[in-house]
Amino acid sequence: MGGAKLPPSPKDSFPSPGKRSVATTVAPCRGRGQGWGPEKGLSCSEGRRDWSQGVSPLKYVRPESIEQALEQLASGVALGGGTTLAPRRNSLETVVDLQGLGLSDLEVAGGKVVAGAGCSLQQIVEAKGTMVEALVEACRREAAWNLRNMATLAGAVLACDGRSPLTTALLAVGARAVLAGGEVIDLDDLLDRRPLAAGTLVTALQWKTKATMRYEQVARSPADRPIVAVAVGHTDGAAHRVVLAGFGDRPVRVARAEKALAADDVRAAGEAAAEAYAQAGDAWASAEYRSHVASVLVRRLAAGDKAPREKG
Ligand SMILES: Cc1cc2nc3c(=O)[nH]c(=O)nc-3n(C[C@H](O)[C@H](O)[C@H](O)COP(=O)(O)OP(=O)(O)OC[C@H]3O[C@@H](n4cnc5c(N)ncnc54)[C@H](O)[C@@H]3O)c2cc1C
Repeated sequence: MGGAKLPPSPKDSFPSPGKRSVATTVAPCRGRGQGWGPEKGLSCSEGRRDWSQGVSPLKYVRPESIEQALEQLASGVALGGGTTLAPRRNSLETVVDLQGLGLSDLEVAGGKVVAGAGCSLQQIVEAKGTMVEALVEACRREAAWNLRNMATLAGAVLACDGRSPLTTALLAVGARAVLAGGEVIDLDDLLDRRPLAAGTLVTALQWKTKATMRYEQVARSPADRPIVAVAVGHTDGAAHRVVLAGFGDRPVRVARAEKALAADDVRAAGEAAAEAYAQAGDAWASAEYRSHVASVLVRRLAAGDKAPREKG
């Protein structure tokens, strides 16, 4: 079966601090919060707060092989799109830019989607038609266009909180993470391992093309992050996955709801979702509201679910 190899993200053509794997010492930018380049050449506004006062320089390295990256990650922080690291740049000593590792391909072949850790969120959006549509839509909801062009798949998942549409969708399709060294683990387990031990490198995420998934969310506006989101998916045949999001530090699978759906008990699945969010109150919504909406969304998605069931 011929596979579709999709073009790399425009991020790859962004100017970067260096092409070779040499260590570059980067002084913190004055005034701008997100510049990663050397201080020379940056157009930082004068008269703003001087961030360089009392801050050590930032060491930037760009390995060209996984082995080199693993060595450097023992004492440095992986740099994907850098969008969560940029605001923390003054507390970082060494960043290891992963752009030179060739991890930005997105391939759909042999019944699998294999998305490189460094593929941009926009690449996934542009792959519409080659994978579960609801997952592409969840990725579009993850961030606006500018951010989608910078943020990487691994970075988004590893930096996610409970309101991440993309991580919710990936959990529901049974995505697995490939680590440098060959270990392949469930995305669920990867999230449990956060913060990752020094020297851990995610090289790709993968999931089956025949995975199905439906996603719904409730938010303050169509472009806002969800207050409650639910994804109901199937990895293969009757293996149900029910994922709740909108609260806390990560989206969660609801095992009781999954079991209820496997027994065709949609009402019990709704009750399990309500119970899972029974304490999920914060400044955005009360626990009572979230619990009720979670139950409604699970029942709605499950009722419209057309997943194939395994016979016998
Ligand atoms: C203006 C703006 C608005 C934002 N809005 C939101 C928002 O509304 N909600 C939200 O959740 N986030 C938001 N973010 C945060 C951020 O954009 C996303 O979480 C983003 O998807 C992170 O992806 P990245 O590639 O930039 O990650 P990075 O910042 O590069 O990395 C994130 C983390 O993952 C680690 N990492 C990255 N790649 C790998 C790898 N291959 N292996 C091991 N570790 C790795 C990094 O070391 C770091 O700890 C916003 C950021 C900005 C700048």
